[in-house]
Amino acid sequence: MSQWIDTDVAIIGGGPAGSTTASLLRKYNPKLRVDLFERAVFPREHVGESLLPIVCTVLDEMGCWDAVEKANFPIKIGATYKWGTTADLWDFEFLGGEPFVEHARPGKFKGQRQETAFQVERSVFDDILLRNAIERGCRVHQPARVASVEKHGDAVSSLTLDDGTTVTAKHYVDASGGAGIIRRAMGVGVNEPTQLQNVAFWDYWENADWAVTIGTTATRVLVMSLPYGWIWFIPVGATRTSIGLVVPAKHYKAVGLSPEELYLRAIGEEPKIRELTEGATREGSVRGTKDWSFCADRLVGENWYLAGECAGFADPILAAGITLAMTGGRELAHTILELERGRLDRNWLKDTYQTNQITRIGQHIQFADFWYSANGQFSDLKEFTRTIAKDAGLELDANQAFQWLGTGGFTNDAQNTAGMAEFSVALLKQLAQRLTDTKVDWEINKYNLYRPNLEDATLTYSANYKGGRVERLASYNRDGKVWPMRDLFGVVFETLKTERTIEGIVNRIHSHFERSGSDPTVMVERSLEVLEVLLHEGWVVGKFNPEFRPLAAITDSNSGAVRDNTDIAAAPTPQPRVTA
Ligand SMILES: Cc1cc2nc3c(=O)[nH]c(=O)nc-3n(C[C@H](O)[C@H](O)[C@H](O)COP(=O)(O)OP(=O)(O)OC[C@H]3O[C@@H](n4cnc5c(N)ncnc54)[C@H](O)[C@@H]3O)c2cc1C
Repeated sequence: MSQWIDTDVAIIGGGPAGSTTASLLRKYNPKLRVDLFERAVFPREHVGESLLPIVCTVLDEMGCWDAVEKANFPIKIGATYKWGTTADLWDFEFLGGEPFVEHARPGKFKGQRQETAFQVERSVFDDILLRNAIERGCRVHQPARVASVEKHGDAVSSLTLDDGTTVTAKHYVDASGGAGIIRRAMGVGVNEPTQLQNVAFWDYWENADWAVTIGTTATRVLVMSLPYGWIWFIPVGATRTSIGLVVPAKHYKAVGLSPEELYLRAIGEEPKIRELTEGATREGSVRGTKDWSFCADRLVGENWYLAGECAGFADPILAAGITLAMTGGRELAHTILELERGRLDRNWLKDTYQTNQITRIGQHIQFADFWYSANGQFSDLKEFTRTIAKDAGLELDANQAFQWLGTGGFTNDAQNTAGMAEFSVALLKQLAQRLTDTKVDWEINKYNLYRPNLEDATLTYSANYKGGRVERLASYNRDGKVWPMRDLFGVVFETLKTERTIEGIVNRIHSHFERSGSDPTVMVERSLEVLEVLLHEGWVVGKFNPEFRPLAAITDSNSGAVRDNTDIAAAPTPQPRVTA
């Protein structure tokens, strides 16, 4: 006999987006009935193993950073790239060039560990996150495949599971990843704003050497270009490594090789990867998927919401999929909690959730376009990179690239820094400089007097998602650009009310943070990044007066977080080997 489940929130999918939404809903409102339906029995394998530090902040909020740390995954310090104008290796490090100080594991989420990430075996990682949701009181149904979605207008009226069970809920969350169960049922279209239509092939290896071991369990992942694509090398455990190949779908079709042949040829042709896998054994079945970048046209409806990969996907070059899934799941949980409280306007809450995700996914896609179009190592893919650059309107000069990156807004995702796609402004400039091999300027260097320009701006609200609540924060809006009155953007706004000279601005911000106990030097640097963005976006107007000293901000493409690699020895050029 078929059953009926009635609940407050029904979530489809137990990946990172679904379990984050479930855990945080229950953390902040233990009375809320949350039911999650997952078609697979965990642990189940999944691609996407290299995390970014912000994921750890969300894990901490969910209450499961310690459990993930106990799994003893390699600590990710950053990545080493063969990418850009030369074949020389360079590093991007989360610790900004500070040496990593090893502590006994399991460690605590404090100090440097708040700035590092993990490389994970997804079967274990996703299972820990789902268990966390269960511990928080979410009812997880597994295996429970949602077979159909019943709708009435723009509302979901029920879900039907494979076994005939009917599920009714106040809120329906689609976190079903590529399946996009509600997205498809509600006829939501997707936008593919880029030529990035790649395919990926990967396998797991036992006992591959690590390119670099920092302390005993930390490392950087490798991203190594080939003439026709790139390889990821991600140690996910002491002896297990995920190695994958990404190539344009067109190239794969044209080359006429099987996935296995293409994959093994790539591993044999990349000297470092070949060297690291010399004494290793391959699990032996090459998995494959297409990894088209896209963004859904709509993320919310009457009583339904899209979270994680079903809302959009950005090419894996930035390793940001889980970041997008978990930050999105977090914001969705806050949105639903606030909708339940009924304190704030429903449409504003839903629109804000949607706009934030679409902006973020769009920025990541745009950034990925830049990475591909600026890679001179793709000698066989020159036409591919040229088309991406042309379609994106990209001129490969560092200043223009920086300007173009900012067309999606440097302030829209403001936490305490100006930037986009998890990169600060200074870092974006460093990367633009390194990838194009041209110098990048700072707009703030041209002036020494500044004043705010709020002409034609309207005062609206942006959202701050915190502690299970959504706070409305005043923001100025103009032509899709935002000046939020919060964090450093608020500090700069207040400062500009009384200070005009760069010296006065810097001194005032310095003493503001000296009083508040934060490192004033760091905060001044970040405030100057904010000022740079405000100048770019027209929120601040600059003037040069020879009576005052100018500023001299510089971008060094070989210092701090982005530097030439020094700890990975070059591998000998490979001789042909039998790969079958
Ligand atoms: C080649 C490649 C490499 C990648 N590399 C990285 C990386 O290095 N770093 C990174 O952060 N991200 C990476 N990603 C992206 C990352 O894998 C995804 O962004 C992430 O898994 C999205 O999480 P999610 O919870 O939205 O979806 P998923 O993790 O896919 O979870 C969706 C869940 O929904 C379930 N489901 C589907 N249909 C139904 C149904 N009908 N009923 C019930 N349950 C259902 C599925 O079984 C699944 O468990 C990569 C992706 C690809 C394709």
